[in-house]
Amino acid sequence: MSTTDVIRTAEPPVQEREKILLVDDSPANLFAIEAALDGLGQQLVLANSGMEALRRLLEDDFAAILLDVKMPEMDGFQTAELIRSRRRSQHTPILFLTAYRNDEHLFRGYDLGAVDFLFKPIVPEILRSKVAVFVEVSRNAALLRRQARILGKAEQKFRSLLEAAPDAMIISSGDGVINLVNSQVEVMFGFGRTELLGRNIQTLVPGWERLSAAGISPKVLPARRKDRTEFPAEISLSPLQTEEGLLVTSAVRDVTERKKAHDEIRDLNAKLELRVAERTLALQESNEALRQSNDDLNQFAYAASHDLQEPLRMVSLYTQLIQKEYAGKLGKQADQYISFIIDGAQRMESLLTDLLAYSQAGAPNREPAAAVDCALVLDSVVLNLKAAVEQAGAVVTWSGLPTIEAHEIRLVQLFQNLVGNAIKYRREDPPRIEITAEHLHPDWLFSVRDNGIGIKPEYVHQVFGIFKRLHGHRYPGTGIGLAICQRIVERYGGRIGVDSTPGEGSTFWFTLPATAVVLERELAGQAATS
Ligand code: ADP
Repeated sequence: MSTTDVIRTAEPPVQEREKILLVDDSPANLFAIEAALDGLGQQLVLANSGMEALRRLLEDDFAAILLDVKMPEMDGFQTAELIRSRRRSQHTPILFLTAYRNDEHLFRGYDLGAVDFLFKPIVPEILRSKVAVFVEVSRNAALLRRQARILGKAEQKFRSLLEAAPDAMIISSGDGVINLVNSQVEVMFGFGRTELLGRNIQTLVPGWERLSAAGISPKVLPARRKDRTEFPAEISLSPLQTEEGLLVTSAVRDVTERKKAHDEIRDLNAKLELRVAERTLALQESNEALRQSNDDLNQFAYAASHDLQEPLRMVSLYTQLIQKEYAGKLGKQADQYISFIIDGAQRMESLLTDLLAYSQAGAPNREPAAAVDCALVLDSVVLNLKAAVEQAGAVVTWSGLPTIEAHEIRLVQLFQNLVGNAIKYRREDPPRIEITAEHLHPDWLFSVRDNGIGIKPEYVHQVFGIFKRLHGHRYPGTGIGLAICQRIVERYGGRIGVDSTPGEGSTFWFTLPATAVVLERELAGQAATS
């Protein structure tokens, strides 16, 4: 419902028929006036004394009062005085009816607020036209009063809306002269309301002019308080073209907190970015250092195992010569010692060979990766392990093996270690070894399943550690095979593990990406992480 609707229903409509009060002590006069005014179409209320007139005025409002001056008890002037003393009838026009034309008489009447005099004997036309004028005046006055009331209410409503606004509201002319502000302006800027009226809004918002030229979307500008301190304010303008020219409403919002939060977030972000950059750099540096020390370690392991092989071979060779030449000549004990030395030397030789293989498995591949058919790899593996396979009566089967991008020599090493172990760690029954692969995009998951002795659950993670062995001297070995497997798999970005049930068998599994080229190249420049 709009404002005007409310006012319309609250206000009674302007009456079509105005009421006119006739006061005369002579019924004949009353009758004559009534007859004269009949044609005007207004409602006439008759009173035959001042008292009666006052009583009528208590009950009603009148457009005009026709008042006979000469009346017994209370004359017209006395009556008029009482009429004027009441607020309700203070401004009701009074038309005196009198037979006297002297000045003193007239002055008294005008003093009492008479609007006019009518002299007896009354001329009906004059009476009618004068009363018609009063009725018109009264109507217009009522209309004006009503409009003033409506305007008053509308203005009140506008002001309370302005006050209720959460922002500081400033209404100014197009060039910034302040007309009206709400109390939030006083609170926000520290100026009294009256101090601001007539001043330019640029006192509060120095850049306002630029803003009004720039358009009406909200902008953040510095605003200035009375004490000349500044704060960031978001300002939205709404221009309104009125009859008196352009009026601009500026809504001002203090955005100190918002800006602070915004700045804090920005600072935090900047700090965060800096820290991320620092971390990344540190990580790159430590990666580089790691790569370096890994390379050093690999080179050391390679050199050590390689260089140790030569003197070891000498020890082994000459001990064997001693054994050949002096067997049975140096006594039983000496023969035993010599065979211990030979065993030890052989064991050390295989340790060095495996260590060499381990260090090489960690070194970058010199050749690029190429498509390798895993089924062909298994062919080679079985061929390499022919003696062991036959001796154990092992059955090695495989199916669904893919072609992947890798290095054949590494895959042979990997599968040979696993299949070799599966034969080595067998039970009484002939070993049955099954190799399968499953494509879990983008990786391949390979499984090497055996029916061997199995591994206790608490050891499944240890077996990949270098020199880690679970089954002691009953089985030959150095404890490096699975460490090599892990190195190879991880160089391609894969993972390796084992599921096992002691007494039933183990399934060694590992993943390899179908295309290892990119990773291998990347890794070639980085460190092997194992
Ligand atoms: P090695 O075989 O030379 O001892 P590996 O690193 O190949 O070294 O294996 C480490 C240990 O893991 C082995 O000593 C053995 O105890 C255990 N192991 C490896 N493969 C199997 C298997 N298929 N079944 C049971 N145990 C195994």
